[in-house]
Amino acid sequence: YGEYNHKIDYVFKVVLVGDSAVGKTQLLARFAKNQFSVDSKATIGVEFQTKTLIIDKKTVKAQIWDTAGQERYRAVTSAYYRGAVGAMLVYDVTRRPSFDNMAKWLEELRGHADKNIVVMLIGNKCDLGTLRAVPTEDAEEFAQRENLFFMETSALESTNVETAFLTILTEIYRLVS
Ligand code: GDP
Repeated sequence: YGEYNHKIDYVFKVVLVGDSAVGKTQLLARFAKNQFSVDSKATIGVEFQTKTLIIDKKTVKAQIWDTAGQERYRAVTSAYYRGAVGAMLVYDVTRRPSFDNMAKWLEELRGHADKNIVVMLIGNKCDLGTLRAVPTEDAEEFAQRENLFFMETSALESTNVETAFLTILTEIYRLVS
């Protein structure tokens, strides 16, 4: 197991937030294990997964946290946000309410997390083009206004998932190094 040979230079905690069923668990599975499971809830209860990568010749361990369904009970606690240096605000491009709730999630995030946290807005399920309910421009406008990074992804088709995580992790690295 090669990881023993590396010293870890940085550990970055990144939290996933957003409404239930937007694809948070699948985005994490895609990034950490390159998996997608149709029966998503097999992974319920998993708190975080890690992936070690090299950024600028440093070994960075990304620790990505999933709400594991807590959001359904409005029970995402401050412990969840504690120590987070990055956050991905995830909505489903086919469900307008999940996008409209981004402002609420952002407010919660700003209330609980460190004020220097790097935030990225993610419009997931971009493979479902015909069912789209949130125009890309609406999200771009929101992201610009709130000073967020923005990307559309598909955990199913693997579109932009790696890029999104790499972008946020690289930005975090730039801030701390
Ligand atoms: P969570 O509650 O936010 O963690 O959402 P899940 O990851 O459990 O995903 C909810 C549902 O959306 C599941 O049925 C997934 O298979 C599906 N899903 C997740 N990501 C995608 C995606 O990129 N495209 C499509 N078409 N379905 C997805």
